[in-house]
Amino acid sequence: MTSILVTNDDGIHSQGLVSLANALEGVGEVTVVAPDREKSAASHALTLHRPLRLNAWRDGYYMVNGTPADCVYLGVVELLDRKPDLLVSGINRGANVGDDVTYSGTIAAAFEGTILGIPSFAISLVGSQPYDFGNASRVAIKIAEKILDNGLPKDTLLNVNVPSGEIAGVRTTRQGKHIYEELVHEGIDPRGGKYYWIGSGEAPHVDQGADTDYMAVRGGYVSVCPLHLDLTHYEALEPLRQEWEGDLEEALKVGRSL
Ligand code: MN
Repeated sequence: MTSILVTNDDGIHSQGLVSLANALEGVGEVTVVAPDREKSAASHALTLHRPLRLNAWRDGYYMVNGTPADCVYLGVVELLDRKPDLLVSGINRGANVGDDVTYSGTIAAAFEGTILGIPSFAISLVGSQPYDFGNASRVAIKIAEKILDNGLPKDTLLNVNVPSGEIAGVRTTRQGKHIYEELVHEGIDPRGGKYYWIGSGEAPHVDQGADTDYMAVRGGYVSVCPLHLDLTHYEALEPLRQEWEGDLEEALKVGRSL
């Protein structure tokens, strides 16, 4: 029996998670391990300095008082008898494109799955309330089936974004830019202390090429962006070698006593 681990970063009570798990029931045996509360923008954090609890919530659903990466790690290493055949993270409320990739707990869960050797993808629904997860759930089924049939390239996960409304098509994309307005809300709490609340105002969009994830979803296309764990910027290696190595060695007086 095909085993599928499902998680998210919006928390176990998120409708996107339930829609995804229900949709994947037809593809394999689904186990849900998700944070007990919203952990959006938790990125790839692991909880190392306090105890974690893994509690059954309802049939096939478990919740963890931790991050999405905690959920994947505990689900795979502790809960399941064997490694799942597939890990799916989502369906996130809101897009995860461009720079969102480095903040997203949804995508980090798929990174964690990839590190553990499990074919993984993250899926997000573009837009805002009210969310309709129908199309994104259908997309998730098709991508799950395709990965189970064909696998994924080594150390590669898929970051899938589904537009709200009618789908114009599917585009394989590269990571673009997602620019937010630099916004901090400042207020005074009931005891007179000042607080800050990081905002997320949308900045005017930048035309960045039709082959980016950002532009694909703007055009109504499903974006399928392959990501890998190696963040090295290979084009920067040679210029840095030439311009930095010698200067730094000189500054550090390498080979001479300081
Ligand atoms: Mn989220």
